[in-house]
Amino acid sequence: MIKANYPIKKFSDIQTPFYYYDLDLLRKTLDDINSKTRNTNFHVHYAMKANVNSSVLAVIKDAGLGADCVSGGEVQAAIDAGISPSKVVFAGVGKADWEINLGLDNDIFCFNVESIPELEVINELAAAKGKTAKVALRINPNVSAHTHHYITTGLSENKFGINMSELDQVIDLFPTLPNVKLIGIHFHIGSQITDLTSFQGLCVRVNELQEYFISKNVVLEHINVGGGLGINYEHPNHFPIPDFEAYFKIFRDHLELQPNQTLHFELGRAVVAQCGSLISRVLYVKQGSSKKFAILDAGFTDLIRPALYQAYHHIENLSSELAVESYDVVGPICESSDTFAKGFVLNQTKRGDIIALRSAGAYGEIMASQYNLRKLPKAYTSDELLA
Ligand SMILES: *Cc1c(COP(=O)(O)O)cnc(C)c1O
Repeated sequence: MIKANYPIKKFSDIQTPFYYYDLDLLRKTLDDINSKTRNTNFHVHYAMKANVNSSVLAVIKDAGLGADCVSGGEVQAAIDAGISPSKVVFAGVGKADWEINLGLDNDIFCFNVESIPELEVINELAAAKGKTAKVALRINPNVSAHTHHYITTGLSENKFGINMSELDQVIDLFPTLPNVKLIGIHFHIGSQITDLTSFQGLCVRVNELQEYFISKNVVLEHINVGGGLGINYEHPNHFPIPDFEAYFKIFRDHLELQPNQTLHFELGRAVVAQCGSLISRVLYVKQGSSKKFAILDAGFTDLIRPALYQAYHHIENLSSELAVESYDVVGPICESSDTFAKGFVLNQTKRGDIIALRSAGAYGEIMASQYNLRKLPKAYTSDELLA
């Protein structure tokens, strides 16, 4: 079994569970993104909601990415991390007044507006400050992402965005709203998308909408196609960096930009998922009636994706080279859903072994909770532990 290259000796001195971030892998991932978008009119905004660990954010900021935020807290965190407000976009179906004001006060690049009432409120709050807010319309493109239904966002049944049938009404409204300026259109069809034809479907829809906006004499400075590029959870050692070339190529080949238009992306998971692991210790190996349980000191409070979406995370026993056996890998929390994997094949496992739950860099630490009054785990980076 191939295992990732971890500072295992250092791990043994650290209180588990904890998050471990391989910042070299993160830097390589960002270099790859930058090399594929350099000298193009493509701009990548990191989706803050995937992970706001300060060491991770610092590396992302140094690579020059912008930020995609879905709350005032994230707008503030992006600015605090040193990301220029001119690269901050702000989406969300329910922006509170204070969050809109925060964006206005910092002159962020763009509000991605999800409804007519929100557009009216942004206009009103901007007027009160004597400002003009730049906005993009988040349009629900009714394109399927072929992903888990909890993380599909681009179908007309979902709560996100403005439906295409409302666009005439929205466009007619702009002349009556002097404190908002329409600069773009925005989409986000879902997350963990591995079938790239979904993005091709989005391109086709964007091209149709471009025709529509041209027919209405509306000039759009930018198109924002959101995020959602998936990663390989099954084989993190073989595919540590997502295929950004194939991803960007879809948009180069299928999306027809107008002259001087820029194309914006909001990638979260694809940037940070593979650089993170949740490191845990085996507390007990328990023989059930028909199977063995490996009971870890990490639970869904530390990594909720398996419990929430039946998501798969690759698991490695870093302490054992023995022959493999099958285990149900579970946490200590008082819920049956606190199961990381059923019938998972691990090197023979005993109390005290160190276990890595892979691909935990996105939607891991940021979704941690204190349920059962558990402590929030600490995080360590390769820069600290390999120094
Ligand atoms: C969650 C989200 C993203 C990032 O999604 P990933 O699947 O992590 O790339 C991008 N844009 C918006 C509006 C989002 O809500």
